[in-house]
Amino acid sequence: MNHDDLRDWSKRAADWAHHYHAGLRDRPVRATIAPGSLRDALPAAAPEAGEPMEQIWKDFQALVPDAMTHWQHPRFFAYFPANAAPVSMLAEQLANAMAAQAMLWQTAPAATEIEQAMMVWLRKAIGLPARFTGTIHDSATSATLSAVLTMRERALGWRGIAEGLSGAPRLRLYASAETHSSVDKAARLAGIGQDNLVKVPTDASLSMDPAALADAISADRAAGALPIGVVICAGGTSVGAFDRVGDVIAVARTEGLPTHVDAAWAGSAMICPEFRALWAGVEGADSLVFNPHKWLGAQFDCAVQFIADPGAQIRTMGLRPTYLETPDDEEIVNFNEWTVPLGRRFRALKLWFLLRAHGLEDLRQRIRNHVAWAHQARDALAALPGVEIVTEPSLSLFSFALRDGDAATEALLRRINDDGRIYLTQTRHGGRYVIRVQVGAFDCTRADVEVIAQVVQDLLP
Ligand SMILES: *Cc1c(COP(=O)(O)O)cnc(C)c1O
Repeated sequence: MNHDDLRDWSKRAADWAHHYHAGLRDRPVRATIAPGSLRDALPAAAPEAGEPMEQIWKDFQALVPDAMTHWQHPRFFAYFPANAAPVSMLAEQLANAMAAQAMLWQTAPAATEIEQAMMVWLRKAIGLPARFTGTIHDSATSATLSAVLTMRERALGWRGIAEGLSGAPRLRLYASAETHSSVDKAARLAGIGQDNLVKVPTDASLSMDPAALADAISADRAAGALPIGVVICAGGTSVGAFDRVGDVIAVARTEGLPTHVDAAWAGSAMICPEFRALWAGVEGADSLVFNPHKWLGAQFDCAVQFIADPGAQIRTMGLRPTYLETPDDEEIVNFNEWTVPLGRRFRALKLWFLLRAHGLEDLRQRIRNHVAWAHQARDALAALPGVEIVTEPSLSLFSFALRDGDAATEALLRRINDDGRIYLTQTRHGGRYVIRVQVGAFDCTRADVEVIAQVVQDLLP
């Protein structure tokens, strides 16, 4: 394929994409194939001679779409959304066309400078003060790892990156049990160790108990360990738990510890001022991550980290060997020094397109609709016989179960997802197996959300 062919095939791909999206409601949301069946349909080795594009295209259409779970399906209510507004897809096409590699300012000045501007736009959009600057990562997992590595090095006076950890005291990191497993992963990968991630008890509202946090820190210090920081949960993945952000930050401040707020999902909702009470006090954090690739509509991948003092993170993560030096390095920002990988995609372009084409007011209205419709779905499910709401809506996420117990609930979920009209996933809450309902697909309508209770009613035992 040359670039003339690419132009022609891009047009066919655009037509196919239009058709695919127009027909999404008629597809089962979740992939229906048996594990291994697609792999078995592929040849065992790459061809020696190039194949005609027509054949590749035919195989794509025959094999791939039915073997996908359709995250852009308007009745995708599983996990959290991975919304891709059409305009963000367009921006990705343009970034693809240039095949940008934005590791340094010099290698893609537009990527760096639009990223800087978008971090200001987003900071203002979610109501954070001007003390925060930031960058874009691939995922919240990477951003949280970066924040935890920075906490570690701050506590060690940047000796860890030089000497390793073998001579270091026992490091301790704090988070509630409602925080995402990416915090566990960060503790493991940062050399802190799973056993040194202290899961601070939560109260009845699933918020970290600040007094218990203070006690845990004191006990660790008394035992000769080195506390390094606190990860705060602002919208947990399981059932949407929020720590009382300001209270936890106050304890951390008293103890001289930095904080990182994980708002991967809920951060997008903070473009609506009325939801900001959920993370009151957030302006005192040292670091915060949220994923515009979840609820906001910036195509995956796009996780933004706001940082109060980027110098500490750059000192932890940044390397500048001679072969990466460029003129005027002191005046410019090289974002690879803020993040784990060296190479970076041009992710800011889709934010620029998204925020301009929709405007904040349209994006707010979508999120407000999702929250309101989630409450309606909750009421409709609560009215069904044998159904119990287990956790009330946190923004647009709630959970339910059958009164008959875990086995009945699990069997119901299997029937729901085999049915295909909607897609829901499960979690465990208070020891119970519960079904999560999350309303947030970019193109979902009130009618789509009403299908949830209809499907559950149809499939009750
Ligand atoms: C989705 C999610 C993550 C992980 O996000 P990735 O970008 O996939 O790494 C972390 N924390 C919370 C609260 C999440 O919802």
